[in-house]
Amino acid sequence: LVRLRARLSRSQNTLGKGLLTLLSREHLDEETWEEIEDTLLTADVGVAPTQELVERLRERVKVLGTRTPEGLRALLREELLTLIGTDADRSVHTANGIGNGGDEIPGVVMVVGVNGTGKTTTTGKLARVLVADGKSVVLGAADTFRAAAADQLQTWGERVGARTVRGPEGGDPASIAFDAVKEGIAESADVVLIDTAGRLHTKTGLMDELGKVKRVVEKHGPVGEVLLVLDATTGQNGLVQARVFAEVVDITGVVLTKLDGTAKGGIIVAVQRELGVPVKLIGLGEGADDLAPFEPEAFVDALID
Ligand code: GDP
Repeated sequence: LVRLRARLSRSQNTLGKGLLTLLSREHLDEETWEEIEDTLLTADVGVAPTQELVERLRERVKVLGTRTPEGLRALLREELLTLIGTDADRSVHTANGIGNGGDEIPGVVMVVGVNGTGKTTTTGKLARVLVADGKSVVLGAADTFRAAAADQLQTWGERVGARTVRGPEGGDPASIAFDAVKEGIAESADVVLIDTAGRLHTKTGLMDELGKVKRVVEKHGPVGEVLLVLDATTGQNGLVQARVFAEVVDITGVVLTKLDGTAKGGIIVAVQRELGVPVKLIGLGEGADDLAPFEPEAFVDALID
């Protein structure tokens, strides 16, 4: 929590503290509620969730007559948690339900998203977490579009102790993904992580490619998880991307990267609404240890404490 707080310091100041300061004003007049609304909108919480939150806060402050700093903090905490949701399954499913932990088919995780959002970095960080957890991991470098992506992934693999399966430059992503899972089976690996390419400007190509990667991998067995990587700093643009990806492949979880560099943590609420899938992991920096599970309570505490 201490680390999370340090990493989120900017978001914390602008969003959480801002809201608390406003709520603590002596007179909660119309203008103040508008400022609260603006603060939430600026943090990319989204219009509908913002209105819901403000309405609930108004109602509860009125009914309960809460005026103490502790009371207001508790109220805000509770309402932010209601907005984010605390009962979603946010675990990354690395088991495929058929066999895992030494059985014949490894759990397969596909990592998708627009190039530049942090896909390859996230794949590397996730491998590190899994390896540290005692799992054997194979990486599939199926982002054959970005020239350096396979090298970058392989470097991560070498660093964390995971074999990287790659193909020729410009090779067929689906066949690399297929080979990676085959390698995973041969090695009795626990998990295969597949990094994919994300070219948003050619939607049909992307659709064909991601769909094909998934179908081909499924010849071995089901894909346990399709993680969509979104860059938190891109705000509403990220939502547009999310929509496009959700159309082409069934997303099972979101990774929100670069939360260390933005005050727009509210995008967590907006993206969950948009996709109907939970944020599972958050990226808090470029380093190997900078991937954290998304825990609503810890996140909200870091925002307002
Ligand atoms: P890809 O094209 O989607 O595979 O993107 P990369 O993994 O190459 O990442 C793009 C850039 O974003 C790199 O410079 C990464 O170091 C950086 N990056 C990735 N995740 C994070 C994060 O959580 N925080 C910060 N500050 N930078 C990140």
